[in-house]
Amino acid sequence: MQDFLTTEIARAGLAVIQALKARGYEAFFVGGCVRDYLLDIPVNDLDIATSALPEEVLAIFPHSHHVGIAFGVVLVTHGQYCFDVATFREEGEYDDCRHPQWVKFTSARQDVLRRDFTINGLLFDPTAQVGNQLIDYVEGRLDLDNRVIRTIGDPDRRFNEDALRLLRAIRFAVTKDFQLDKQTYDSICKNAHLIAKISVERIASELNKILLSPRRRYGIELLMQTGLMDYIMPEVTALCGCDQSPEHHPEGDVYIHTCIMLDLLNDGSDKPTLSLIWATLLHDIAKPLCKSVEENGRIRFFGHEALGAEVAETILKRLKYPNSLIDDVVYLVKNHMRLMNVQNVRDSKFLKWMAHPLWKEELELTRVDCASSNGNLENYHFACEREKSSPVIKQLPTPILNGRDLIHLGLQPGPEFKTILEKAYDAQLDGLVEIKDEAIDFLQLRH
Ligand code: ATP
Ligand code: MG
Repeated sequence: MQDFLTTEIARAGLAVIQALKARGYEAFFVGGCVRDYLLDIPVNDLDIATSALPEEVLAIFPHSHHVGIAFGVVLVTHGQYCFDVATFREEGEYDDCRHPQWVKFTSARQDVLRRDFTINGLLFDPTAQVGNQLIDYVEGRLDLDNRVIRTIGDPDRRFNEDALRLLRAIRFAVTKDFQLDKQTYDSICKNAHLIAKISVERIASELNKILLSPRRRYGIELLMQTGLMDYIMPEVTALCGCDQSPEHHPEGDVYIHTCIMLDLLNDGSDKPTLSLIWATLLHDIAKPLCKSVEENGRIRFFGHEALGAEVAETILKRLKYPNSLIDDVVYLVKNHMRLMNVQNVRDSKFLKWMAHPLWKEELELTRVDCASSNGNLENYHFACEREKSSPVIKQLPTPILNGRDLIHLGLQPGPEFKTILEKAYDAQLDGLVEIKDEAIDFLQLRH
């Protein structure tokens, strides 16, 4: 373990604290940085809390400016680092489950008591003697050691003040590998409906952190168990209890199948991208809508990829994701079954699939989909081998035949141009024609 206090960021932070203390103010490292330091997780974001008022902080540090005078936060630059230096504050009653009505400058203890979870409420004085550096008003150290997320004070009150904390609790449990304290957990279940008051942008930002964590499955399970999923993505709740044919899906219903896939993403050779993770979560999202049962009892989900792409788009638009992510997820969901056909398609098709920027993700989605169901990876392996024996294609070749050529041949421009040119291009990719004249003969375009 590298001692946090010897890192450059901690030494820069120490210099800021020393400057504040030299003028008679109290000053501490606070919140996430203290938590992560004690957990032996690299700290890349350091917050400082002080008794100095914002204008006093501004006067001490030449390279500083305030970022919200009402909240008492001043940004102080020291060398290459920039720290939030916040005056100890207390917050009044909350409006709209998110914003305090007033803020008042106060003591270190009161400042800790307004924070969300005990593990985020630790103060650390790097200038004190070793053994006396930690100031713990909320038994945060004990919860850190026991790996427990617990609100500071009554959970019902704290979640009603600010409903974003419902999701933050789950996010910290997932990313730090902690358990939720029983009372905190029960309160999340009771107050889950309050999440509807939080902006979708903030919800999406927490979801991203949960999904990018290797323990994303635990996150989805917590969202389901607490009832939060009902308010964020009821479409995912509907996967629970959506039965599938046991011979194809011995693992269980669509929800279980999806959860296993979320875990299997960790075995890939690369870290999964956010688009791939979202596509995994939503790949079968339309199965409950497409379910039919045949006379022999076999369960089918005709068209679930195409409809799934539409449902995925609706969900991600609702959560105001950027169009680039939505486009990627829609593409992956729409095409998530097509590699089942990889042993039969012509080169033209395969080369087009391979040339797509999301090819690696498509392949990976197929791997986890097959591995989490009947475990038959034949098509996946076939696709990998076929890729190896195909020319390395970063960009598809320029078509040898174009619209101008058709006009030259005396054809009238019209909708059929597209079909003719597609046929010519597929023949080119399949290696059946190499030059313009061959393409013209192949399609019998000369009269
Ligand atoms: P990370 O930055 O790694 O996500 P963090 O604990 O630093 O974790 P921030 O959102 O940066 O989280 O907040 C810094 C600190 O501010 C927290 O540790 C916590 O003490 C306090 N805090 C942040 N958000 C809230 C909130 N919604 N309610 C109460 N306290 C909060
Ligand atoms: Mg932080």
